[in-house]
Order: sequence, then structure tokens, then C-alpha cells
Amino acid sequence: MKTISISLLLIFGLLIALPACTTNYVTPIRLIADPNHEEIASIRKHTLDSYMVIYNPDTCRAIGDACVFFRTHAYAHYRLNHTLMRPKYYPALNEKQADCYAAKYGKPNEIKAAVKLLLDDDRDPNLKIHGDPSIRAQNITDCARQAGNWTGS
Ligand SMILES: [Zn+2]
Repeated sequence: MKTISISLLLIFGLLIALPACTTNYVTPIRLIADPNHEEIASIRKHTLDSYMVIYNPDTCRAIGDACVFFRTHAYAHYRLNHTLMRPKYYPALNEKQADCYAAKYGKPNEIKAAVKLLLDDDRDPNLKIHGDPSIRAQNITDCARQAGNWTGS
């Protein structure tokens, strides 16, 4: 009897501890590669209470680490409880918050790659960048610095 109650305690303990352990700040639960996706990455409702991040694998191959930043940005809209919509419809404030989130929780190399891409005048003009790229680059840099997540100068 004693063994059973200890086992039960362990199981309940695990059930309580697991969600805390699995809180993930950057990796969405459903990540879908769609070569026809016109955005770098975006987030969409999947069922009533779940979502998916869709990204274009070809674009991702072309822009490398920056792609992960934009996927984290898409996921951030969910994490920040924004109403999920098509990328171009987000209010500027939500965009700024999602960039700041990705700058805080993303990996420094991904953040640097995204900033570099935003500031690159020669980037592929077909890349869908929403908002003013240089303002976004500045906001991302500021947020990463503030979070102690910016390496180098
Ligand atoms: Zn966004």
C-alpha cells in the first residue's frame, strides 16, 4: 500500500513538473515546411487551441540562420497572445513586440543574421519583409542588447 501511494505521488509530481520543464520559448510545437509558402514564416491557427508555424524551406536554405529568427518571430505572436493573422496585417506594435521577443529568446547568431539581412540593400527583393527594415534592425539590436543576448559590437 505504501509503495503504491509513493508511486502515485511520483506520478502526480511528474505531471505537475512536466509542463514547467517543457515550456519552450523558441521552438513551436508544430513546424510545417511548405515550399509554396509566400512568407519566410508565419503562424496560423491549427485547431481551436493549437497553432502551427509554417515556413518556406527554400527561402530558409537561402537566408540561413536568419530564417530561425523569423520563425521565432512568428511563434512569438502566439506566445504574446496576439490575435493570429496574416503577417502583413499585424499592427506595428505587435510586430515590434514579436521582434523583441525573438531578440530576447533567440540564439545570438540567428539574431545577428536577421539584423544583417534587414540591413542588406542587396537582399533578394522577393523576400517578404514587413515594416521598415532599418527600424526593425534597430529595435531587434536594442532588445537583444537589453536582454544581454547580443554578442560583439
Ligand atoms: Zn509578425
